[in-house]
Amino acid sequence: MATPSKSKVFEDWMEWLNRRGLDWGEPCCWACGRHWGEKYCIDNPQASREEIIDNWNNVPLQICHIIPRQFGGEDDPINLFLMCSDCHDKAPNTRSREAFLEWVEKQDYYADLGERLERELKNFGLDARLEEVNAIMVDEQLKKELLRSVGLHMNQARGGSQITLSSIVAVLAEKLNSKLTEY
Ligand SMILES: [Zn+2]
Repeated sequence: MATPSKSKVFEDWMEWLNRRGLDWGEPCCWACGRHWGEKYCIDNPQASREEIIDNWNNVPLQICHIIPRQFGGEDDPINLFLMCSDCHDKAPNTRSREAFLEWVEKQDYYADLGERLERELKNFGLDARLEEVNAIMVDEQLKKELLRSVGLHMNQARGGSQITLSSIVAVLAEKLNSKLTEY
């Protein structure tokens, strides 16, 4: 059997996704819930069922086996699952569908991001200065400056494909420290 398209996999899982409270028009990783903002969102409330289903082919999610091929898992939508590349890397190789789905329940991209951010803030000694950090994040002008500086860092990086959390926090730290000397 040829591997079905992402849309086909989505179609088979629609009811399950619905029960989990996932909006079909806002594609995200089925494990961690990571989504891509407006880029793949279907805003149009008049969108047809076909449009919504088709849209899942465009999302940067990977088709993953619940039971891997080496354990006899088939390329059938019931054994396939859409996940981001990070979750695909981390997912358990198991013969148990239940174990896989239990693992899925425990993934949370945004909680992880919060924890990583907290760690990076600590690394730069900013964890005690959360009020100042928050003040920067709500100040539009400062936020723009911050993003520009991160962009600069990104271009210098090898490949420059990803803005890391630590580079954002590093710029934030620079900003806060230079602000201190202004006073
Ligand atoms: Zn994920």
